[in-house]
Amino acid sequence: MPRVTPKGGNLTHMETLAQRLVHRGWRMTAQRRVIAGVFDNTTGPGGDDHQVDGHGADRHHDHHTHLTADEVHELSAAVLPEISRATVYNVLGEMVDAGELLAVNVGDRITRYDPNVHESHDHMVCNGCGSIFDIPAGPPPAPTGHADFLVESADVIYRGRCADCR
Ligand SMILES: [Zn+2]
Ligand SMILES: [Zn+2]
Repeated sequence: MPRVTPKGGNLTHMETLAQRLVHRGWRMTAQRRVIAGVFDNTTGPGGDDHQVDGHGADRHHDHHTHLTADEVHELSAAVLPEISRATVYNVLGEMVDAGELLAVNVGDRITRYDPNVHESHDHMVCNGCGSIFDIPAGPPPAPTGHADFLVESADVIYRGRCADCR
């Protein structure tokens, strides 16, 4: 996944995912509302500040913002029992295509969905519990020996142990 270039005004990232979709003119069907709500309900008490300090006091819910499609389905079905897995996949795909969700892969072939599209960030993965944390993106590493190669994006994954797993 390429790093995300922050776009939009200062207010955009204060909005919930559901609000962002409404502002895009999306018709909020029950399915879309429930799926967006899964992300909005797991981004922390304010729902809008989880990415500010990445690995700080908020870390315990940070990793919930990187949900697999199965997790999204499970959480959606708790609210809307008839929602199908296919619907969840379709809606997630629409949100990714619209740039409102990132499809993140941290090397385990499992795609996770991340609503943090407004802050350019890298990921830090715990080898113990698998938690994924957002951290502000550093400068892209320069590939040595390829001075003529123009770097446009880099996927950086830091691996280690979270405070709970050390
Ligand atoms: Zn851990
Ligand atoms: Zn992320």
